[in-house]
Amino acid sequence: MRDGIKSALSQLEQECLDCGACAEVCDLLAELTDSPGELARRGIDVYLAYSCFLCDRCAAACPLELRPSALFAARRMAAVEKGEIDPEEYNYLLPDRKEHVMQLYRSYCGIDYGDLEAEKGAEICFFPGCTLMTYSPVLTREVFKRLEDECGCRGMLTDCCGKPLSQMGLEERAAESSRNLVDKVKCLGVKRIVVACPGCYYYLYEILGQEEIEILTVYEVLDFTEITAENAPLCTVHDSCPDRFKGVFSKGVRAALKKSGFSVVEMTANRGDTPCCGSGGQVSHFRPELAEKLIEVRLREAEKSGARVLLAYCLSCVLNFATRPSGVKVRHVLNLLLGLDEDYSDVKTKVLKILENAG
Ligand code: SF4
Ligand code: SF4
Repeated sequence: MRDGIKSALSQLEQECLDCGACAEVCDLLAELTDSPGELARRGIDVYLAYSCFLCDRCAAACPLELRPSALFAARRMAAVEKGEIDPEEYNYLLPDRKEHVMQLYRSYCGIDYGDLEAEKGAEICFFPGCTLMTYSPVLTREVFKRLEDECGCRGMLTDCCGKPLSQMGLEERAAESSRNLVDKVKCLGVKRIVVACPGCYYYLYEILGQEEIEILTVYEVLDFTEITAENAPLCTVHDSCPDRFKGVFSKGVRAALKKSGFSVVEMTANRGDTPCCGSGGQVSHFRPELAEKLIEVRLREAEKSGARVLLAYCLSCVLNFATRPSGVKVRHVLNLLLGLDEDYSDVKTKVLKILENAG
């Protein structure tokens, strides 16, 4: 990953045309006076590095397909290496620490998947991702059951993919986390991994790409046609940043919704042009006002679409939208496809209480 960021940064330094197309789709770039190319050449401060959602909407708009996010990601790595930030202060965000908020939440709520953990010989496994298995044990267990019945799934991998560490700039810890996961998957003899979260899906592709392990989405392997929705509400879909360029989830989700009898109305910005939900790059912890603005704009856009339900296939996006007042109901796509309704509006309040109690 480090090499990819370095080469994207050097491309930015050398090739950026200062054309401004990226700033048209990004409030952060729009508020800066210099183009990404100029910033790459002269360098940026730490505060700015942690102000970028790492969402790559700018890269999708760039005529040269340059990646301004590399500038911010590289500066984060440098900040860690130079000791400009103290990672210990952010243990609640870091999945390899026991103080990680999701570990605290699971322990507080008694959420445990010990009975489903993959064992040696489990060739087909489910990888729910930290957010889904923490904040929706109902969906996690139901998806597992469906995969077990329909696809021969024999266990669950409850590890973190390591992406949050990489996004914080903790490249060595991210690499260690990835190595551990690769070793575990090889040792168990896993041949196919079914993934629910787009962030995990693309990250696993990067770290397991060489291992001849098939990685599929739940929308590709489960047949949702049995659950035909009656009186189905009109829905709109918020797409996820990691899915921006390949669109595996955006296509699969819309096809599954259509098969199940749901109609989708599109918001103006959709698929590859979708703005971040506000949870990308951990910016909400460093520049909450930037994240709040994105959430509000997106909720108003969903209301304007005429949809009654705003759907997302990443639970982090769902949680960001669900906690704000709006004229739309916010749900995970799987809540509709599996016929399991859940209200996520108080999850973040509960998280804050748990964090306060943990000191
Ligand atoms: S990655 Fe997202 S937040 Fe960062 S500069 Fe690009 S569009 Fe803006
Ligand atoms: S859109 Fe691409 S070429 Fe244009 S200013 Fe942004 S990074 Fe540079």
